[in-house]
Amino acid sequence: ERLAQTTVEQLAEWDKQYFLHPTTSPKAHVEQGPKLIFSDGDGIYVNDVNGNEYIDGISMLWNVNLGHGQQELAEAAKEQMAKLAFSSSFVSYSNEPAIRLAEKLASLAPGDLNAVFYTSGGSESNDTAFKLARFYWRMKGKPEKTKIIALERSYHGVTIAAQTATNVPAFHQFSGSKIPGIFHARPHRVDCERGEAHEHGCGCIRDLIEREGADTIAAVILEPVQGSGGVYIPPDGYLEAVRQLCDEHNILMIADEVICGFGRTGKMFGVENWGVVPDLMTIAKGITSGYAQLGGVLIRQHIRDALVQYEDVLAHGFTYSGHPTACAVGLKNIEILERDNLIDHVRKMEQELKKGFRYLEDRHSIVTKTRAIGLLAGFELYADRDSETPFDPSVKAGLTFVEECFKRKLILRALRANEGYNIIAVSPPLTISEEEMEEMIHIMDDALQAFK
Ligand code: PLP
Repeated sequence: ERLAQTTVEQLAEWDKQYFLHPTTSPKAHVEQGPKLIFSDGDGIYVNDVNGNEYIDGISMLWNVNLGHGQQELAEAAKEQMAKLAFSSSFVSYSNEPAIRLAEKLASLAPGDLNAVFYTSGGSESNDTAFKLARFYWRMKGKPEKTKIIALERSYHGVTIAAQTATNVPAFHQFSGSKIPGIFHARPHRVDCERGEAHEHGCGCIRDLIEREGADTIAAVILEPVQGSGGVYIPPDGYLEAVRQLCDEHNILMIADEVICGFGRTGKMFGVENWGVVPDLMTIAKGITSGYAQLGGVLIRQHIRDALVQYEDVLAHGFTYSGHPTACAVGLKNIEILERDNLIDHVRKMEQELKKGFRYLEDRHSIVTKTRAIGLLAGFELYADRDSETPFDPSVKAGLTFVEECFKRKLILRALRANEGYNIIAVSPPLTISEEEMEEMIHIMDDALQAFK
């Protein structure tokens, strides 16, 4: 039911007054108010309080994988909340959904990633992974192994360690601080990481290991497919080469599967596209399709076995580590993914999306570098794609395109990866149908006319 206009105006006013929004210009927000006040949704569609319907072309924050208004997830939450909304996981207290989900994750995760440490989201998971990696090396008698290597263009979250690993300058400028010992390597250099074409000073992971000394490095962290940094799919052989490099140098490999996990890339986990098993794997977002706040670090058996030798308290944990309602939603989410064969569906829809991208490339000479792995996809806008001449930054091509889509009731996102904001992320709910995909492509086609 639509809200009265006066109520909508009141909400917008309160929003401006009382709600400081993440990753938003506070000044612009106070001047302009909320862009949309969402009220409800169904599948790929979301509605605002004025009764306008939009297509959610990016699954909100790459997380609403099963789409909006999924009643079974809501029921699972309701049922668990009515029974036992919360219980502690500290000092060996436990609860059934958290135990069952841990067992399920161990069976789903590749290789021997058999134990989980729960958190409430992606940033907490990455900070936890860094702590676990350092703690592991201390237990192994190598306390000097503390440094972390991340990749340029990475996004790992905003808690202080995760934010240091994040390589988007705006996040560092905001906090004005980074923790020491986290370095960034140039991504996706397959030959280099194999040692074949590697030259000293080139900035690849191998280079940083040589520069800093393997004895000082705890872990390498990377997203199997880089998301917010620009949707960059690694070349084949890259993750395998990084895995081998880590093994050679006794360094742990952390895969940040916060976006990639739970079907987004057409496999249950992103690393499975390349047959790689990391030592630690961080998860969040898609584990509950955004219906509850849940994250975690999956841990390989050899690390888990070392950790359980520790007699003192493992002094780390969040109030909501192992939250029963969030875990019940996670279990139901995985049950639906499997029951409805959604990962097969994602691979089919990937082909539809690629077909749509080819159509857009044929019709619009500014569209190029289209890419998709499962339903994690994007493309770039160039003034002249043949010579890769970018638009003048003042044009803000990506933002203009996204605004044109928005006018046509499609929500997409332009990534800041390069200051031109010319990378467009496309990442609809995994449940999208062929007809809905066509609808989305037609809106993009129409929006691109604005550049003619
Ligand atoms: N890691 C990746 C790859 C992400 O994309 C994100 C969020 O977008 C995070 C970590 C941080 O997760 P959260 O916002 O849940 O803390």
